[in-house]
Amino acid sequence: MHLEINKVTKKYGSFTALSVFSATLESGIYGLLGPNGAGKSTLANIVCDTLKPTSGDILYNGVSTKKMGKEYRNLLGFAPQVSSYYKDFSTRYFLEYMGMLKEIGSKADIKKRVDEVVDILNLTDVEKKKIGKLSGGMKQRVGIAQAILNDPKILILDEPTAGLDPKERIRLRNILSKMSFDRITLIATHIVSDIEYIAGKVMLLKKGNLIEFGTLDEILSSINDKVFKITVPKNEVDEYSIKYKVVNVIGDGNMAELRIVSDSAPNAEKMVSVKPCLEDAYLFYFDELNISNKVDLHD
Ligand code: ADP
Repeated sequence: MHLEINKVTKKYGSFTALSVFSATLESGIYGLLGPNGAGKSTLANIVCDTLKPTSGDILYNGVSTKKMGKEYRNLLGFAPQVSSYYKDFSTRYFLEYMGMLKEIGSKADIKKRVDEVVDILNLTDVEKKKIGKLSGGMKQRVGIAQAILNDPKILILDEPTAGLDPKERIRLRNILSKMSFDRITLIATHIVSDIEYIAGKVMLLKKGNLIEFGTLDEILSSINDKVFKITVPKNEVDEYSIKYKVVNVIGDGNMAELRIVSDSAPNAEKMVSVKPCLEDAYLFYFDELNISNKVDLHD
């Protein structure tokens, strides 16, 4: 199974939201990482056939998805970013209703499949509750439940952990990981931890351009020797924060330890080179250095 995104561009007037994007996806989890406005939702919507690209095409197993039409849409599951699911529907009723719209089978088939997804997403306790009354985490899970009703070969999730607390994030991450077998899962997010541990491959999207695409190790190797820890007097932290991209600051008495990503080794008395992580890469590729990088260090 492979999905080929072939030179896809989306323009709004003269503005290019997505620029000649090409990538081939096979089964596994892909993390589409980039700041707000990078073009992630644009790509997600184009792959889901809810938005037409200005140019370029998408091929599933070598066949144009335009030609496949409904056959392609039947392979898709999409949990979009803004999910104003039917507030007055109960969880169960909503899922059965979506099962009907997706034509996944007879009434009995739909009931059986809803039972399964309710179980997978741990929604048993809220089956009868109205969606409008659910917590943010529960709503997100309902959104994913409807996306997997048809056991999609291509599952697209746009900002799946928006509004979730850390525990719910971890739970959702584990669910996605378990479901990833034998399907293409694309997770669009600006939250590094959503994908750091589960994505086989990571795409970094910046201003509509795919700037890096590879395994986590490949992405990290691109910033090898660019991450440092330095220890400086507390009163010099501002100076360093303006000059360097600072990932983290830990205060300790009169001194502070700064984690920095930089093309060249920072000039500090106490400095060590450290192993990069995805958060470092995010800052390296997406953060523009400016005065607002000043870090507030409270005593
Ligand atoms: P992301 O999901 O990474 O936050 P989007 O794909 O939503 O980014 O948006 C990418 C860019 O395209 C943004 O600058 C956004 O303002 C712009 N954009 C999105 N939809 C439209 C639209 N309908 N008309 C004009 N510009 C749009």
